[in-house]
Amino acid sequence: MILVTGGAGYIGSHTVVELLQAGREVVVIDNLCNGSQEAVRRVERITGKVVPLVEGDIRDRHALDAVFAEHAIEAVIHFAGLKAVGESVAKPLAYYDNNVNGTLVLCEAMAAAGVHRLIFSSSATVYGSEAPVPYLESMPRGSTSNPYGTSKAMVEKVLEDLAAADERWSMALLRYFNPIGAHPSGLIGEDPQGIPNNLMPFIAQVAVGRRDELAIFGNDYPTADGTCERDYLHVVDLAVGHLKALKALEAPGVSVYNLGTGQGISVLEMVKSFTRVTGVEVPYRFGARRPGDLPAFWADAAKAERELGWSTERSLDDMMADTWRWQSANPKGYAG
Ligand code: NAD
Ligand code: UDP
Repeated sequence: MILVTGGAGYIGSHTVVELLQAGREVVVIDNLCNGSQEAVRRVERITGKVVPLVEGDIRDRHALDAVFAEHAIEAVIHFAGLKAVGESVAKPLAYYDNNVNGTLVLCEAMAAAGVHRLIFSSSATVYGSEAPVPYLESMPRGSTSNPYGTSKAMVEKVLEDLAAADERWSMALLRYFNPIGAHPSGLIGEDPQGIPNNLMPFIAQVAVGRRDELAIFGNDYPTADGTCERDYLHVVDLAVGHLKALKALEAPGVSVYNLGTGQGISVLEMVKSFTRVTGVEVPYRFGARRPGDLPAFWADAAKAERELGWSTERSLDDMMADTWRWQSANPKGYAG
């Protein structure tokens, strides 16, 4: 049995589908601050399997102890956390509490239950602002520019120290690049609360008529078309990466993997691809740069391919088509 924290959220729900379809048993803990019960119900619809959902907080040691007492957990995939960069600047304590303290409580509960296998959702943001592209796992963590990024870098360090102190721990730190897209069923996808911070859900909400136009943050960057470049990968490929990492969790210690395609795509290329694939126009205007944005970054994804046998299989067109299938069938996300 695999414990998935944050399994009612975007990446967690897609990973639970892949786990169940691979024959794994899963229990989810989620406090539903940014996830929904409906997502878990839809995972059940896709897979035809029951997903136990514990509505609880990873900072609640008693809730975790009860989960470990009730289920024979072999490993934990840890998605639970807060992820909005701008909000993290305004509410640093909430971010350090959820992301750092939450992980400490989780690890304490795991150790007490004798469970020492952990997969952690880290981020390309830990490479910091000075790192040259493509990012390689062997590069040092850089200087992060907001509490969200710092919380991910802090957790990575905590987990490394923990594994160094006790060789029973086996951990994978997965540094995600930019996950987008949705399950091809159209039943689950990304459902941000309020105004989306990220590009893909913003494009999808403009396309479905929930927002008037996309503001492209800056067109004077030193890139081919002046807009920022990112490494977008399909969320189902990302989910599959967790299954591969889980299989590889044998040796003691910490392994770090970039999960990306290895290719940068500009904001303008994203908008054009969306329209080409879906036939839906996305009105946009160029606006000011967003503070803290880097011009371009993408992964060197060779290590995950070499050691995990993982590489992305779904194309940018798949990402666009699947996003649109989800968004057009669920204009208001899980709310209707
Ligand atoms: P999400 O917000 O959709 O999912 C996170 C889930 O965790 C939500 O369902 C939320 O309700 C739950 N949660 C938050 N705090 C909790 C707590 N204290 N106790 C229990 N549950 C809690 O986000 P996501 O996009 O699925 O991201 C999953 C993880 O991957 C996060 O840790 C995020 O920082 C990381 N990550 C995401 C991206 C991205 O672009 N989406 C990129 C890099 C890393
Ligand atoms: N972006 C944009 N308009 C938006 C949201 C994002 O132009 O409404 C740009 C943003 O400046 C960045 C890219 O799209 O260059 C990806 O942004 P996102 O927040 O999705 O990912 P991140 O910057 O965190 O990698």
